[in-house]
Amino acid sequence: MENKDGRQGPKLGSLLFYGLMLVALVVLSTVIFGNNYGRQEKTTLADVLEYINSTEYKVTSVEVNGTNVKLTYKDQSGAVKSINQSVPYEYVDDLVLVLEEAKKNGTIENYNYSEPFDWSILINIMMFGGTIVLVFLIFNTINRQTRDSNSVFSFGNNRAKLTDPDKMKVKFSDVAGSVEEKEELSEIVDFLKSPAKYKELGAKIPKGVLLYGAPGTGKTLLARAVAGEAGVRFFYISGSDFVEMLVGVGASRVRSLFADAKRAAPSVVFIDEIDAVGRKRGAGLGGGQDEREQTLNQILVEMDGFDVNTNIIVMAATNRVDVLDPALLRPGRFDRRIMVNMPDADEREAILKIHAKNKPLAKDVSLREVALSTVGFTGADLENVLNEAALLTARRNKKEISMNEITDATFRVQMGPQKNSKKLSDKVKRLTSYHEAGHAVVLKATSEFEKVDRVTIIPAGSAGGYTAYKPVEDTDFYTEKMLLDVIKMSLGGRAAEEIFLGEVSTGAASDLQHCNSIAKNMIKRYGLSSKFRNMVFGDENEEVFLGYSMGQVQSYSEQTAAAIDQEIKLIIDSCYEETKRILNEKRSIMEALAARLQDKLTVDGPEFEMIYEANGDLELVDYARKNKLSISEATEKRSSEITSGSIEDLIADDASKTSSDDKDGEEN
Ligand code: ADP
Ligand code: MG
Ligand code: ZN
Repeated sequence: MENKDGRQGPKLGSLLFYGLMLVALVVLSTVIFGNNYGRQEKTTLADVLEYINSTEYKVTSVEVNGTNVKLTYKDQSGAVKSINQSVPYEYVDDLVLVLEEAKKNGTIENYNYSEPFDWSILINIMMFGGTIVLVFLIFNTINRQTRDSNSVFSFGNNRAKLTDPDKMKVKFSDVAGSVEEKEELSEIVDFLKSPAKYKELGAKIPKGVLLYGAPGTGKTLLARAVAGEAGVRFFYISGSDFVEMLVGVGASRVRSLFADAKRAAPSVVFIDEIDAVGRKRGAGLGGGQDEREQTLNQILVEMDGFDVNTNIIVMAATNRVDVLDPALLRPGRFDRRIMVNMPDADEREAILKIHAKNKPLAKDVSLREVALSTVGFTGADLENVLNEAALLTARRNKKEISMNEITDATFRVQMGPQKNSKKLSDKVKRLTSYHEAGHAVVLKATSEFEKVDRVTIIPAGSAGGYTAYKPVEDTDFYTEKMLLDVIKMSLGGRAAEEIFLGEVSTGAASDLQHCNSIAKNMIKRYGLSSKFRNMVFGDENEEVFLGYSMGQVQSYSEQTAAAIDQEIKLIIDSCYEETKRILNEKRSIMEALAARLQDKLTVDGPEFEMIYEANGDLELVDYARKNKLSISEATEKRSSEITSGSIEDLIADDASKTSSDDKDGEEN
């Protein structure tokens, strides 16, 4: 079964043979080269001429044999002597001309020239030929060794990774949540386990199952689990493998992949990232079109060629079902489609439990709490959070992962690692602190749906600082108000710069991009403009699938386009006005938050809430935090302390307290 084609691994002997051949080549070449150029002294043409023209000795004959020159001469005493020299090959022709001349002039009596044999040509041929043979042999060897694994050498072969049924450990129990998905797939599992049962009933089992959903939601995991549950072979191949290298290889890979799968049937063929080959044909920019088309066609041909006895289930995964070629989705192909959802709070908790199994958690860790605070995280993100937390724990030389590490890891996964070492100038600190404070305060003032999680002016990723916020609960949709709130929140940074610093910066570039695209979508896709209520414009795939829409004609007039732009501007402008109004109203909170940020660089969610509630009274906030009180409790306690305190205390505290008392007064 394993050596299907009777191919064998490389024998030690053959490797030895190649090695010896290489050694022989090297030795041979040094001998030959050495003889010609190395051992004898090299003479220039000028040296030979000097002998010939010399009055000291009389050159009688010159023998040129290849690059060897033998000069015979009589010295002053009349004795006959000879010297052997070697001239560089390039000089031989010139030398012959010179000797011809010299003989004519009578300077020398005789010369003899025999055609040089150019060793270097022979050597070049040998080296070249030898190298080709060697490279070929080595490729061949490696190819054989790595037939079934990822390898650049296995050109025509499929690169599916085989998995032994015994080694298939992934079961449905390893996939947390995803109840509906698993239910849908259990029919497939049952078919793979006992195909006969279905055949007898004449039931037609889907050939192709398409899993779609956001990256990291566990599509690959589910496909593996199907094979694992059924105890059949799992052939994995990724669509991006097909497009990455040589032209004309994709189709043959598909062919041999299916051939292998048929031999191992019942089995599961899993094509990951199928959108890489299965995009709508004739769409998209750039080359590689034909290659993709051929590969896609071959997949379709293979699937169409299945008969009732082909017990293969083809599974595929994508996060972009909307760009897939309709041919893939026709009946008899990937007609069973299963959406893999983002996990909700319960599922997140279950996923965390699975991945926390082999990790020592401290007693203070509540996975429920982590699950609740990680809205919008996928299974892969959650796995990553726990892993990052473990790494942080190790770095902090602790034995158990505590809630602290998990919280920090959550931000790390969300924002990328912070650049703690970067030195920030006071000017940058000031600018970033107002900018981020602007985001945070506007979010708090407008949205009941999302809350501030952390504000920091430590750069992370490409951002100078960031305001992290989280949805309060899971949701699948946005209301109009929610979208407007997001726009205002995005504008908060720039508005704060304008109000508090009197100048604006480029730091808001990505914020502006974000809110502009939301405004555009509100009008063009969601029908939320006042002028074009309930109308949509353009293709829904437009943004994500650039090449496709570029070939399309705009379906509305220039006037409408101008009016749409006008509507976008209207939304942005009115949101900006509202944002500035909010920030002006919350001046004391803004000043306090910006000051705290410049001071401590980071303000976490709870502290932010307190600063907001205390209307920017940092002293009150610190007092409350120190005594573990809420802001309202702290306000009460402090005022009673003041009234019950001695006159001296009152006087001593007077200067600092009055101002904050004033603020409290404002708040009420
Ligand atoms: P996708 O293929 O959808 O991009 P993967 O299947 O590759 O996602 O998931 C990546 C990793 O995330 C998995 O290896 C697994 O460890 C984890 N994961 C995702 N979803 C789940 C889940 N429902 N239960 C347990 N682990 C999950
Ligand atoms: Mg995947
Ligand atoms: Zn910003």
